[in-house]
Amino acid sequence: MSDLNPFRNAQAQLDEAAVILGLDKATHELLRWPMREHRFTLPVRMDSGETRIFHAYRIQYNAARGPTKGGLRWHPDETIDTVRALAAWMTWKTSVVDIPLGGGKGGVTCNPKEMSEREKERLARAYIRATADLLGVDRDVPAPDVYTTPQIMAWMLDEYETIKGHSHPGVITGKPLPLGGSQGRGDATARGGIYVVREAAKTRKLSGDLSYAVQGFGNAGQFAATLHKEILGSGKLVAVSDSGGGVYNKNGLDPQKLVHHKRETGRVGGFPGAEPISNEALLELDVDVLYPSALENAITGDNAERIKAKIMCELANGPTTPDADKILHKNGVFVLPDFLANAGGVTVSYFEQVQNTYNYYWTLEDVHQQLDRRMTSAFAAVHAMSQKQKVHMRLAAYLVAVSRVAEACKLRGWV
Ligand code: NAD
Repeated sequence: MSDLNPFRNAQAQLDEAAVILGLDKATHELLRWPMREHRFTLPVRMDSGETRIFHAYRIQYNAARGPTKGGLRWHPDETIDTVRALAAWMTWKTSVVDIPLGGGKGGVTCNPKEMSEREKERLARAYIRATADLLGVDRDVPAPDVYTTPQIMAWMLDEYETIKGHSHPGVITGKPLPLGGSQGRGDATARGGIYVVREAAKTRKLSGDLSYAVQGFGNAGQFAATLHKEILGSGKLVAVSDSGGGVYNKNGLDPQKLVHHKRETGRVGGFPGAEPISNEALLELDVDVLYPSALENAITGDNAERIKAKIMCELANGPTTPDADKILHKNGVFVLPDFLANAGGVTVSYFEQVQNTYNYYWTLEDVHQQLDRRMTSAFAAVHAMSQKQKVHMRLAAYLVAVSRVAEACKLRGWV
C-alpha cells in the first residue's frame, strides 16, 4: 500500500537524498521539518448571514536562502500535512532553479466551488488580517495555487496595504497586470514544464509529433495542452481530464477548442468528437509525454506498473508516491519531478517581485527568455547530477536542491 500522506512522502524523499549527500544529523533533522508553522481559525460572514468558521494555515518551511515564498491553496481536503509537504517542495523548488528565496505555503480548508464571489473576498481578506504581520517582501510572499486566482491575490493585496497604510505590491505575486502583476505569469508553470520537456526529449532522442495527455484541466493543465505544440513546434494531444472524468481521441484533440468547451460548460466531458475516458485510464495511455496536472497521489504503487509514457512531466505537486517512483524508474519512464517541472510559476513570481521592487516592468519576450534560461539550466544541473550519481531525476533534483539549502544553513551557522 502506498503511503498517501504527502508530508511523510516529502520527508521520505528528503531522507533518501540526505544519505547520499552524507548530511549530518542536525542538518538532516532541520530540513525534515518546517521552521515555523501557523494555524488560524477564521470566522467569515456568509451571504446567508450565517458565520462560518474556516481552518487555515501558513507554513514558513525554510528561509536560509531568502524570504519564504509559496502559493495559497483553497481546497476541501487541505490539511496541515498537505501544506507542510507543499512548503517543503517550495523550498526545494526555489533552490533547484537557484532563485534567492526560501519555501513556504498556505492553505484554507474550504470549497470555493460552493462560495459566492463576495464570500471568497471576505475569506481572502480574513486570511490576510490573520497573516499580515507574518508576510512581507522580505519575510514571506504568497501567490495563487489550486482554486485561488489573480482576483483573490488582488483582494489580499488590497487588505494588506490597507492594514499597513502604504503600497507593497511585491508582498503577493500572481496579481492582475494593472496591480503590478508580471507579463507571462498566467502560463508560467506550464511553459516552464514544457521547456524542460523539450530538454528531456533531446536527451531521450525523441523528436517529431510527440503524443501527449493531460490529467487535470485547470490553470497548469490547460496551458500545458495549448503550449506543448507552440513550444515544441508540433504534438498530438490525445486525452485530457478534470475532476469529472476525461475525453480521448487517438487522432488528436484541438487544445484551444477544449479550453473553450471547458470555459463554456465547466467540464471537459461531452467534448464533441471525443470518447469518454476515466482518469485512471488516461494515466495509463501509451503516450510520449504525460502531464499529471491535478493533485497529489495520482500515480501510486497500484498503477505505476501500467504507466507507459516515455516522459512524465509533473506539473502537479506530489503526483507520484515514493514506491511508484521506484517502479517508474525500473520501467524506464523519464520523470521530470514536480519541483523542477513546475518551477516556472515561482520563477516568474520571483520576476514579478523583482519588477515590483524596482518599479520597472519587462516585456513578455523578456520574461519568456529569462524563464527559458533558468529552466534550461536547472534541467542541465539535475540531469548532470543524475548521470554523475547514477540516480533517477527526482533524487538528482533533491541532491541539487537540498545541498544548496544545507550549504546556506551551514553558512548562517544554524548547523
Ligand atoms: P486548478 O485548480 O486551476 O486546476 C486543477 C484541475 O485539476 C481542475 O481542472 C480539476 O478539475 C482537476 N482535478 C482535480 N482532481 C482531479 C482528478 N482526480 N483527476 C483529474 N483532474 C482532477 O489548479 P492548478 O493551479 O492548475 O494546479 C494544479 C496542480 O499544479 C497542483 O498540484 C498545484 O499545486 C500545481 N501547481 C500549480 C501552479 C500554478 O502556477 N498554477 C504552480 C506550481 C504547481
